[in-house]
Amino acid sequence: MTESVFTNLLLRDGQHVDLFCGSGHILGLRPSGQPESVRTPSVDCRGQLLLPAFIEPHVHIDKTLWSLPWHPSTAGPAIPDYIANERRLLKVLDSPISVRSAKLLENCIAHGSLHVRSHIDVAPDIGLSHVEAMLALRERYKDLCDLDFVAFPQMGIVSSPGTRELMEEALKFGVETVGGIDPAGIDGDPIEHLRTVFSMASRYGCGVDIHLHDPGELGLWQIDRIADFTVANGLQGRVMISHAYCLGMAEERRIASIVSRLASLNISIMTAVPIEPGAPPVAFLRAEGVNVCCGSDGIRDSWSPVGNGDMLDRAFLLAFRFDWTKDSEFEAAIDCATYAGAKALGISDYGLEQGSRADFLFLPAENVGDALCLRPRDRTVVRGGQIIAENGRLKSSRVG
Ligand SMILES: [Zn+2]
Repeated sequence: MTESVFTNLLLRDGQHVDLFCGSGHILGLRPSGQPESVRTPSVDCRGQLLLPAFIEPHVHIDKTLWSLPWHPSTAGPAIPDYIANERRLLKVLDSPISVRSAKLLENCIAHGSLHVRSHIDVAPDIGLSHVEAMLALRERYKDLCDLDFVAFPQMGIVSSPGTRELMEEALKFGVETVGGIDPAGIDGDPIEHLRTVFSMASRYGCGVDIHLHDPGELGLWQIDRIADFTVANGLQGRVMISHAYCLGMAEERRIASIVSRLASLNISIMTAVPIEPGAPPVAFLRAEGVNVCCGSDGIRDSWSPVGNGDMLDRAFLLAFRFDWTKDSEFEAAIDCATYAGAKALGISDYGLEQGSRADFLFLPAENVGDALCLRPRDRTVVRGGQIIAENGRLKSSRVG
């Protein structure tokens, strides 16, 4: 039964439609001006552009300094230096994780991300404290946003005794995905690292999401090994490699066979779209059939004060990074922030078709390219057929 109608929405193909919602799902889209539209509680969308809700496939909500005063970046130059700096800072923060994370999540939701994957640090020095906080956050916001989690061994697994056991505990508590990080560069034993990650994923029925910053041939060799373990464990379609800078450091002919394996095994690539050291060649990967999504990674944390949690901005950065200017390229950028993220995370009932969850947004723009260029904040976010945010703010905040 129709419970609400959003009238006069602009589709990406230029059509104007009315969108009918009921029981939290999309019942159908019909050309604007349907007689039925005026008999049901309706929202006049005034010809604004309709998009499916954004998918944020990679963020670290537990690390954020969101809502705190500006914190200059003091870390570096190498990744171990960033990790050590973060541990020092998080120990002395007096703002509770429950407040910082809730404020960031509200910001992400208000900008249209209604499914968020967050990596959660699991390490001996913090135990499962971050996992407990994130599970509480998920419960608190489950009506507004779907959160899924990765048990993330920031300090390594092989080189950090006790982490393996903590990751297993995290999975038992309800974390869905097994994380990994630079099996060679951080952990120093790539095969044992990957054996541990994939064995855990197999035993607990989980997917895998590995941070891979290692550059050049070392990185490419590890992608091949990740593909090997994916096959050996039957995890095709359930593995993501985050960052994969190495793919952006080599010529296309060097990575062609690896890219072919990624496509055939349905291993997704996530990029936060760095300028350096190497953004994966997104157009080439997509053309070869690899699923590529874009994500924020850290948002205002000890690694960097940048990031704003707006996936429309991230999609723009993707287009800008690769000098994309064609309408088809803008469509590809939006796809990386929506449908590709949904595919990578295995989200069913996603999209704007009949039967999809009624999670969408609309905003003042002529088309996708216009939306990316303007990145309007005055957008309306709808969850399950109900408006939950306008103009970049939740209608009702749950934190002070
Ligand atoms: Zn990350």
